[in-house]
Amino acid sequence: LEALDVGAIREAFPILQREFNGEQLVYLDNAATTQTPDPVIDAMSDYYREYNANVHRGIHHLSQEASIAYEEAHDRVAEFIGANGGREEIVFTKNTTEAENLVAYAWGLNELGPGDEIVLTEMEHHASLVTWQQIGKRTGAEVKYIRIDDDGRLDMDHAADLITDDTAMVSAVHVSNTLGTVNPVSDLVDIAHDHDALAFIDGAQAVPNRPVDVEAIDADFYAFSGHKMAGPTGIGALYGKKAILEAMQPYLYGGDMITKVTYEESTWNDLPWKFEAGTPQIAEAVGLVAAIDYLEDIGMDRIEAHEQELARYAYDQLDAEPDVEIYGPEPGPDRGGLVGFNLEGVHAHDLASIMNDHAVAIRAGDHCTQPLHDKLGVAASARASFYVYNTKAEIDDLVAAIDNARQLFA
Ligand code: PMP
Repeated sequence: LEALDVGAIREAFPILQREFNGEQLVYLDNAATTQTPDPVIDAMSDYYREYNANVHRGIHHLSQEASIAYEEAHDRVAEFIGANGGREEIVFTKNTTEAENLVAYAWGLNELGPGDEIVLTEMEHHASLVTWQQIGKRTGAEVKYIRIDDDGRLDMDHAADLITDDTAMVSAVHVSNTLGTVNPVSDLVDIAHDHDALAFIDGAQAVPNRPVDVEAIDADFYAFSGHKMAGPTGIGALYGKKAILEAMQPYLYGGDMITKVTYEESTWNDLPWKFEAGTPQIAEAVGLVAAIDYLEDIGMDRIEAHEQELARYAYDQLDAEPDVEIYGPEPGPDRGGLVGFNLEGVHAHDLASIMNDHAVAIRAGDHCTQPLHDKLGVAASARASFYVYNTKAEIDDLVAAIDNARQLFA
């Protein structure tokens, strides 16, 4: 694979030119949100300048143009993640969190009851963990967790024991936002299906960084967020198998999601509109398509290789520091482009703050995985996460800032 031309890529991201106290921004908080390239900003700006209108019901030219762009955005997302059913299998949501809630409310509240089990992993993001925990409390279904081993990988023997004929739903992260682990999701889905359970895969940290084929994984549901893949905030997508989405009740009620309404009764629109009540994220859908075009132009396999290389470099640099503890598996095919760590004796927040003094942006905290941090025995961790525009020189800046923090706290 040809390496990325990072210099050329960086030119498309105006924000990377920002300086703080005379130092150029080093942006290593991509697992939280990625930066937005000019083609995405331009596409959204064109929408507002040229064809802003409400969708679906318009007779006039602008509404027709906006409707076509909005509806076709579903086809583009379907194609991007290998959903051959097209737009009917793609529901636009606010983000991954809302996709998880949509399934939990529309499927979980109706289908689950006492005796049913929901199986999660110990590395779930709160987006799925808190959601299914609450659905469990409301329905009487029991929530169980697949253990992780000392290297931060899923214990698949435990998964095989835990998932039984009582299991109704398995929900798992594709790539952990805290450990960087790439989970064997198609194996998990197979185990779920062997027991007639459904499988929801949280792809928030996978779709931005690697080729994803939802049909090869055979996931029943798969979700991701636009803002973590060079796209805008405010839009995410839920993929669902058509037959399952068709059988599901709506999640939100209102305009656009109906076919016929009387004072007594309503009937539901076709997929995916049944799940998209009210005026949707039209500009954001246009921006998401531009982001997909941008990433596919670079090539998802090349993006994955670039991230693996940066992750390996960062891992090796941090591993060489005597007092740095790194979380998650060693670099390799089952580690994504992020590294979580702690510097002994320095709280992760203090470390992030010292880095910020040098314009190095990282995240510190529990990364919406509090139970996992409890298990790791730490309250917080620092996390450096990479994207298409990051360089090894920026990782050197990160390590230099760690040396600085050590001196300050020694
Ligand atoms: N799942 C994972 C693995 C994530 O990393 C995130 C974002 N931190 C989410 C879910 C939630 O994404 P969003 O905030 O866009 O809903």
